[in-house]
Amino acid sequence: MSDTIERIKCLIIGSGPAGYTAAIYAARADLKPIMYTGMEPGGQLTTTTEVDNFPGYPEGIDGPTMMVQLQQQAERFGTQVRIGMVTAVEFSEVHGGIHKITVDNTTQLEAETVIISTGATAKYLGLPSEQKLRGGGVSACAVCDGFFYKGQDVAIVGAGDTAAEEATYLANICKNVTMLVRKDQMRASKAMQHRVTATKNINVRYNTEVDEVLGDMVVEGLRMKNNQTGEKEEIAITGLFIAIGHKPNTDIFKGQLKMDNTGYLITEGKSTKTNKPGVFASGDVQDKEYRQAVTAAGTGCMAALDAERYLVSIESEVTA
Ligand SMILES: Cc1cc2nc3c(=O)[nH]c(=O)nc-3n(C[C@H](O)[C@H](O)[C@H](O)COP(=O)(O)OP(=O)(O)OC[C@H]3O[C@@H](n4cnc5c(N)ncnc54)[C@H](O)[C@@H]3O)c2cc1C
Repeated sequence: MSDTIERIKCLIIGSGPAGYTAAIYAARADLKPIMYTGMEPGGQLTTTTEVDNFPGYPEGIDGPTMMVQLQQQAERFGTQVRIGMVTAVEFSEVHGGIHKITVDNTTQLEAETVIISTGATAKYLGLPSEQKLRGGGVSACAVCDGFFYKGQDVAIVGAGDTAAEEATYLANICKNVTMLVRKDQMRASKAMQHRVTATKNINVRYNTEVDEVLGDMVVEGLRMKNNQTGEKEEIAITGLFIAIGHKPNTDIFKGQLKMDNTGYLITEGKSTKTNKPGVFASGDVQDKEYRQAVTAAGTGCMAALDAERYLVSIESEVTA
């Protein structure tokens, strides 16, 4: 075994739409990108059967197929895709400095630039019936999947601003929306609460939790439980949306990169620059606002362009 540590020009962490788009642009700019896929090769879209809103697919496409195609496109230009998890990082503070990376707790690497595209993980309730019906009517993304329930009765779980926003989004498309709020009030801002309560086809149920999602292959109903009285009630629905938050995958960057109070990476202005020179962030890991494949892809493109310009700036300093 060689003792020489591999030096990478452009390391991409994560294999969702942001990572693959960054890889396509970085490879075409001759940055010879190397990507580590993490535990979920292809990212969040591999957990969904239908992607209807990504431009360029007039008939829609299933998530896993779309991600294989993105991988093939990135590989066509020379991206090396490796299975592995980045487990530790030591980012340089210096412009032009080298970043130290550990993969799978064993392999050491050095990188001139790093593009972080580690995404965010949607939180679920954890009920067996909910897990069984993920992709069969249980979804963590109303903007992505609401359309499939047009004119139907659905329910949404959550009490924050995102849940309130998604409830009103669903109310525009669906017939009736039942909103389950665990406490006796919502956490959402007063303005958002008002929007929800003023929407005629949203029925807010306070002190209410999911007892069981009903249905074998697809969602057919919901058994709710009032956590004050213990009373249970069943309603017929075809879609259940879980809007109880996301966890950005940023644990390994703690103490090194600037994050907001929920762990999302903070980037500089309109760029993808983090607070460490040569380290860029794209996709859901730095975006709690939009969280869509196309927006992730857009910032992946930006990150590759930012990395390329950063490397050019270093080269011109050296030759000046
Ligand atoms: C059920 C569902 C349906 C959806 N449907 C749609 C839709 O129809 N249309 C749409 O536009 N959006 C949809 N979305 C949202 C979309 O999936 C995300 O916005 C998008 O995938 C974000 O892309 P990303 O590249 O930022 O991150 P992700 O797709 O989250 O990918 C993150 C990647 O990082 C990797 N990773 C994490 N940690 C590490 C590490 N330490 N080392 C190496 N790799 C790591 C993971 O393995 C993964 O490959 C849906 C989301 C869900 C959950």
